Amino acid sequence: MTRTGSTAAGTAAADVRIAVDNPATGAVIGHVEDMTAEAVASSVARARRAQQDWARLGFRKRAALFTSAQRWMLAHRQEITDSVVEENGKAEEDAIVEVVYCVAAFSYWAKHARRLLAQTKVRSLSPFVLGRGMYTRREPLGVVGVIGPWNNPLINSFGDAIPALAAGNAVVLKPSEHTPLTALLMERMARECGWPRDVFQVVTGAGGTGQALADTADFVMFTGSTATGRAVAARAGERLVPCSLELGGKDALVVLADASVERAVNVAIHGALFNGGQTCTSVERVYVEAPVYDAFVARLRERFHEVGVGRSAGLGSTDVGAMTFPPQLDTVEDHVQDAVKRGARVLAGGHRVDGSGRFFEPTLLVDVDHSMKCMRDETFGPTLPVMKVGNAEEAVRLVNDSSYGLQASVIGSDISRARRVAERLEVGCVTINDAQTNYMALGLPMGGWKGSGLGVRHGAEGIRKYTRTQAISVNRFPMRRDPHMLPFDASSYRFILRMVTALYGRRRSRTK
Ligand code: NDP
Repeated sequence: MTRTGSTAAGTAAADVRIAVDNPATGAVIGHVEDMTAEAVASSVARARRAQQDWARLGFRKRAALFTSAQRWMLAHRQEITDSVVEENGKAEEDAIVEVVYCVAAFSYWAKHARRLLAQTKVRSLSPFVLGRGMYTRREPLGVVGVIGPWNNPLINSFGDAIPALAAGNAVVLKPSEHTPLTALLMERMARECGWPRDVFQVVTGAGGTGQALADTADFVMFTGSTATGRAVAARAGERLVPCSLELGGKDALVVLADASVERAVNVAIHGALFNGGQTCTSVERVYVEAPVYDAFVARLRERFHEVGVGRSAGLGSTDVGAMTFPPQLDTVEDHVQDAVKRGARVLAGGHRVDGSGRFFEPTLLVDVDHSMKCMRDETFGPTLPVMKVGNAEEAVRLVNDSSYGLQASVIGSDISRARRVAERLEVGCVTINDAQTNYMALGLPMGGWKGSGLGVRHGAEGIRKYTRTQAISVNRFPMRRDPHMLPFDASSYRFILRMVTALYGRRRSRTK
């Protein structure tokens, strides 16, 4: 069955349609419009009008609408899962994780938005503001443009819309042209759950549609490659609108000598192969302390041969799904061939799978080093290069030898030592004895350092970024003239200086 996406701004769209295929079969499963800049501007304008009533609705009523959406998602979970599996080619289990995330996110942001965005009192000892009442408050920004990638059609697109909406913004979402159908399903959900018209809209199209959204939204929440992220940030800079960038990664896993080999192997396999390795937080390189290297590699090799690759036919039918984005197969193959050419050995996999779908064998590489693409560039596929290191010091140096800084994992039994290693890694998030699980903890900020991004999703900053702060200072008992005001009066300023000396001078002498 093929589907045709109809978007709210569909009538204004250009007469160009994009075919969406199922990467696991190659079959075309739907078409969407390639929306023009004018169509996007019209969506944003309608969202801007709808946003004001949405903001006035308040946290409680928005939370109630979230609850109905949450119930809708649970009631339609199989339909949503099927949509993700079909357009992305992933295993059903990979898709379920996306559904579970969004269901939980509705509750999290409904429950915490009000507290995280609450007014805060501010105090000051400055003699210039004595007696003033001061506080900060937050306003939604208006229309948040969410631009998403193809690897997680639900989490990294609609998932980022939830806190933006909770904060009182309208959202216009631009999914990847390769996986736009699940986003359109979310638009249907909003309609069927009685969300106010135009408060959540989807605009479909290719890169130009994303650019048009970045050119008109009041905030850009971008998830995608570092190269496109830089272009989006440059445009946001020109317009002086804020943006948040969740970009690529080259996440490392460090196996310390005292690690449980079985745990390390399981974390490495799941971290590298979940979602076919097409996750920004995939484990893309492993550094193993020498004493445990042989045992780790031997067990990892056995386990790699147990992993199934192929088309999902329901729960338990496959482990590693298809490569969603056609050129990604070439990138993965190129990284494997480059490594082999430079001296790496392939212990499992190493090739494309023949057939109509786009599959690559789960591939285990050893004898790798940092001259190889597989250790430096984002592979975004089901491969795992493993490198022996003399000690944790060398592992830290190699983890930090990267232009990326998204996430890392440390596996070890001595938690104090693992934490000391973790805190020296130049990445935004570290999991100890785990990989990727932090994404599900919505109270924990998630964001990259260096070439992996700017800003965070989740946690307090994950919703505050969708607002602007207003600072209010109230002089309840104004005098006719304050001592510091013109015309200057020498005795007032001598008094101010005495006050400042009493306040800060004594403190300084106390600390001496
Ligand atoms: P891209 O950067 O190619 O595309 C991301 C989105 O931006 C797509 O919707 C794309 O549209 C759109 N786009 C393309 N050009 C422009 C433009 N000039 N202005 C605005 N939008 C534009 O990334 P991918 O889709 O290939 O996603 C994979 C990347 O995403 C990987 O690097 C991965 O690491 C990263 N990622 C990061 C995450 C994180 O949290 N840090 C999470 C998930 C993925 P279209 O696809 O239609 O061309």
